Amino acid sequence: MKIVRYSIGRKTAYGILKDNRIERIAGTPYRGIKGTKEYRKLSEVKLLAPCLPSKVIAIGLNYYKHAQEVKQEVPKEPLTFFKPSTSVIGPEEKIIRPKGCEQLDYEAELGVVIGKTATRVSKADAMQYVLGYTCFNDVTARDWQRIDKQWTRAKGSDTFSPIGPWIETDLDPANVTVEAYLNGKRVQQGNTSDLVFDVPALISFITNSITLLPGDVIATGTPAGIAPMQTGDVIEIKCSGIGTLKNTVA
Ligand code: MG
Repeated sequence: MKIVRYSIGRKTAYGILKDNRIERIAGTPYRGIKGTKEYRKLSEVKLLAPCLPSKVIAIGLNYYKHAQEVKQEVPKEPLTFFKPSTSVIGPEEKIIRPKGCEQLDYEAELGVVIGKTATRVSKADAMQYVLGYTCFNDVTARDWQRIDKQWTRAKGSDTFSPIGPWIETDLDPANVTVEAYLNGKRVQQGNTSDLVFDVPALISFITNSITLLPGDVIATGTPAGIAPMQTGDVIEIKCSGIGTLKNTVA
């Protein structure tokens, strides 16, 4: 099932996308999904970020090949950092380069969307807390990441968390091909089978100390092939079994 968030006129709603048609659901998708039999064509609406995370928790160096690429050792425990709610944008929205940032990189990632409040969850129980999966672009001001000890602005600036185009609930997160296309050319390709820490391990590790709320997103890390984007570039993040998240750089 594909869960979307969308606007039409001044109204915003969640819905289920099927065959280019959206059925609005009552309320949010976090307390059971109830259809309303109210339908819209996909072409009539504007798709929004499919969830409104209180925070994104992103994972660094979580693919063996990417760790090799940046000549760093794979961490012994997941390397986590925050991206704030204000960094979130949806499909087709513009990624804005902040003033003074010289190198703006894309990072294609599989995003895990949390479905219910999760505190101190075991690996065995972790998957019960997942609503579904989406494409995520961990936009990074690489020069700021090198300069700063904390990555607050390097990873958390406005528009640095494109999410979408929807949440796919039916997916095996252990076998997803994650790709980035820059102006139509493939620049990143990896598979989540290469993850150092898999999705249950990440949920268990994070919730040991941080409560995850419905709609929060875990960005699971990026495969090899990171590189800069220039103004006007079109960046697409594609996850197999989900779809394509497309944004442009302004
Ligand atoms: Mg990343």
